[in-house]
Amino acid sequence: MNAKPILWIVIPCYNEQQVLPITAPMFLQKITDLAAAGKISDKSRVLFVNDGSKDDTWNIIQKLAAENEHFIGISQSRNRGHQNAVLAGLMEAKDNCDITISIDCDGQDDINVMDEMVNEYLNGCEVVYGVRSKRDTDTFFKRFTAEGFYHLMHWMGAEVVFNHADYRLISAKVLQHFADFKEVNIFLRGMVPLVGFKSTSVYYARAERIAGESHYPLKKMLALAFDGITSLSVKPIRLIALFGTVVSVLSFVGILWAIVMALLGSVVAGWASTVCIVCFMGGIQLLCLGVIGEYIGKIYMETKARPRYIVSHRTWQSDERQYKG
Ligand code: UDP
Ligand code: MG
Repeated sequence: MNAKPILWIVIPCYNEQQVLPITAPMFLQKITDLAAAGKISDKSRVLFVNDGSKDDTWNIIQKLAAENEHFIGISQSRNRGHQNAVLAGLMEAKDNCDITISIDCDGQDDINVMDEMVNEYLNGCEVVYGVRSKRDTDTFFKRFTAEGFYHLMHWMGAEVVFNHADYRLISAKVLQHFADFKEVNIFLRGMVPLVGFKSTSVYYARAERIAGESHYPLKKMLALAFDGITSLSVKPIRLIALFGTVVSVLSFVGILWAIVMALLGSVVAGWASTVCIVCFMGGIQLLCLGVIGEYIGKIYMETKARPRYIVSHRTWQSDERQYKG
């Protein structure tokens, strides 16, 4: 067996000054334990990605890095959102380690599952998805909306692992290929399965946030679902085409019926019904134009090909480090 794998835990942080001092030692303990168990290299690291926080988060990260070499941090030039922060961390890690595990910094995802993830990697899996087995600690509303999110995604043709968020192990080998996915509209949990390679899932119960507040209210979740669907699938456009076909066929039948009735001498009365149908169709057409417009907007953003993240500060230096946006 070759040398023990170097693990980098990648943690996006946005305004997390309350939780970071609590969870950072837990992550450190985890890599220390895994290294002591002989599963990973002692050169493993905990990488924090500061996503343009407005509070003390970056100072805390810098302090942690100064105190212990196992902690390192990078800072984004501004807030770019969770997905971009994770991507920035993974791209930072990919040339410096053998495996990465991305996890939120709020302590909601059970870090003890990392043992299982590493075991699966050692058994030959290149991607290991962390899947929530139950959502007891979430409110009914959060659970309902979050599970609805996965059903909607699936129905709309975006293949995602059910109840898997962004807690996952990805090997550096997979990340090298993942780096070739140049799209600007990123939805990691839909994109990672596209890379392929042997994968599996491990299960855990999701806890409550240790401190601070969720950054994913319903509005952001809907935006993420919509983004995911339009990034991964063209099913909405197909549904529009299908709907258009059905309506056309129905109206054709309606026209035939009206002609037949006219020939038979009975004129159909109905100003109100006509106006209703016209308004209804007008509304549907605008909606469809909106959905198609959304895709055009995405194409617009893709053609600009702006960098997906910009790292402004690092607590560490490496000669091998490369900037790949
Ligand atoms: N996060 C981030 N940038 C953002 C919003 C969130 O990096 O713009 C991070 C946040 O610090 C946390 C993770 O993404 O580590 C998940 O966020 P949160 O816990 O608020 O979401 P929830 O678990 O409620 O879905
Ligand atoms: Mg959370």
